Amino acid sequence: MAALPSFSLFRNCAATTARAFMAVRASNHSFTRLLLPLQPCRSFCHINATNSEEAAAKAAAVDADSGAPTIFDKIIAKEIPASIVYEDDKVLAFRDINPQAPVHVLVIPKFRDGLTQLGKAEPRQVEILGQLLYAAKIVAEKEGIVDGFRVVINNGPDACQSVYHLHLHVLGGRRLKWPPG
Ligand code: AMP
Repeated sequence: MAALPSFSLFRNCAATTARAFMAVRASNHSFTRLLLPLQPCRSFCHINATNSEEAAAKAAAVDADSGAPTIFDKIIAKEIPASIVYEDDKVLAFRDINPQAPVHVLVIPKFRDGLTQLGKAEPRQVEILGQLLYAAKIVAEKEGIVDGFRVVINNGPDACQSVYHLHLHVLGGRRLKWPPG
């Protein structure tokens, strides 16, 4: 495992709190695949994250449900600049300030409405969740990566979520390995 590349890739892996499962090779059945919970990937976040990234993620989680505005509220309000890729009345998509791939766009709901993280989603929010996912597809088309892209949601401190305003990472423009890499 030490040979695996970088924190950010494991972070993406950890983000599969939403993806939930990964295929692994069974010891008694060559190339037999079992579905197991992704807990081992989560631990990579702790092993590979720098102390500051992990600390920042934990600190961010403390205020997660305070209702306090996040940096994304300032972007929505156009109080700070962002490179906007797509926008409609419900959704905003803009380039990540610290890209992990040639294309790295964040897709967020304009109205947070308690959606600090995917794990807080409620049935009444199904429509906006679908709109976010569809916006991710529009972004992929606009960015010319629709034939190969990844959508990641980092959920909670164990997945190193650092901004508590639900966001989808749309990543592409390079070969994306699986398991995530
Ligand atoms: P996460 O760690 O999953 O919560 O993702 C938060 C993302 O927001 C990170 O990838 C950051 O690089 C990104 N980010 C933070 N501030 C900004 C900003 N002002 N503009 C664009 N992206 C940002």
